[in-house]
Amino acid sequence: MPDELPPEPLPNGGFLPRLQSGKIKITYACPFRCRMCDYWRNPPRNELTLEEWKNVIDELLELGCGKIHISGGEPTARKDWLAIVSHAAEAGLRVAMTTNGAGFRSGDLEALYRVRFRSLSVSLDAASSALHDRIRGVKGSFKKAVDLMEKIRKRNMKKKHRIKMRINMVVQAANYRDAVAIHHLAHRVGAEDVVLMPVDEKGIYSNGTPKGKVTRGKKGPRLHLNERELADYNKKIRPAVRLVREQLGFPAAPAHYDIFGSDTSRAAAGEYARGYYEKHLCFIPWIHVFVGARGDVYLCCMTHNNIEPLGNVRAEPLKRIFTGETYTRLRDRFLHERLGVCHRCDQYLVRNAALEKALREGSRSAGGQEGKRRNRPSTG
Ligand code: SF4
Repeated sequence: MPDELPPEPLPNGGFLPRLQSGKIKITYACPFRCRMCDYWRNPPRNELTLEEWKNVIDELLELGCGKIHISGGEPTARKDWLAIVSHAAEAGLRVAMTTNGAGFRSGDLEALYRVRFRSLSVSLDAASSALHDRIRGVKGSFKKAVDLMEKIRKRNMKKKHRIKMRINMVVQAANYRDAVAIHHLAHRVGAEDVVLMPVDEKGIYSNGTPKGKVTRGKKGPRLHLNERELADYNKKIRPAVRLVREQLGFPAAPAHYDIFGSDTSRAAAGEYARGYYEKHLCFIPWIHVFVGARGDVYLCCMTHNNIEPLGNVRAEPLKRIFTGETYTRLRDRFLHERLGVCHRCDQYLVRNAALEKALREGSRSAGGQEGKRRNRPSTG
């Protein structure tokens, strides 16, 4: 079962929005120089202030949101990141954050324990400092991430409240062979999971079509695995990842290790949704919202900067944006077609399938063919 509820079906085939989670990028600044990211190339400008972020968080709560994910850029690049995190946690939201581990100062961890912060995703792209530092563009970045996790592991043993840790690995041509070794590292530092995230090639959405030619940044190495590497992943790495996850006690459903699927030409083109959204609905527009560092509002992280913003929290309250005409029109469009970027999106495949199942089962218990017909989330 998903840990959230599906939106409520309406007689006209649509759904009532039911906000349950939010993601906020509190800054685009970052001290790293990652090869798969461009945020660091531009100095941050005109980002929301601490007071504005507190307002956004309060509005999320008013809308019924129960959990929030804080990211960047690198969130700790903001001097007041801890005040934003604390405000969200003390207001009662379940708070998670993604970090590269570089910006933690002494005392920050204790503050996170004090506000009962829940979950930290640490970005780690290799099991060795040489490769991780090369991908992240800064010497010493591996050590900082691993040291942070070691500190949390030790504190978790002493504290009543535990901070859950997971490792996010952006899987790309340079590092896919490290996917097994990184699980051993995760186990050693007390992480509860490793999330293998296929890389999104820079600039890939620029033509806005689901099957566009794969482009990449003008500078830098190829990021995507090519078909030969994908076949190698599927043949050698995928079964080994499954095995190591089973052996070390990590969750081991196919979504955890079968991250590219067997259609290697589709995966090589970055279509990580593997055609799912050609037949199924994404419920994210009804249950989730994304706010960027300058206050622009989007459906989700993947649509950020790839569609026109649905509003800006400096111009109108988040509640009005989430329930307003632009958002509603896009939700209506979703009932019939997905966006180009959706076909590249693997972020919510498991959640969407679970929500669809919950809706189907709910409609069955609610009774009758009419319920089934109304609730069917496929796009036709
Ligand atoms: S499929 Fe992905 S990109 Fe499309 S709306 Fe859902 S979460 Fe966003």
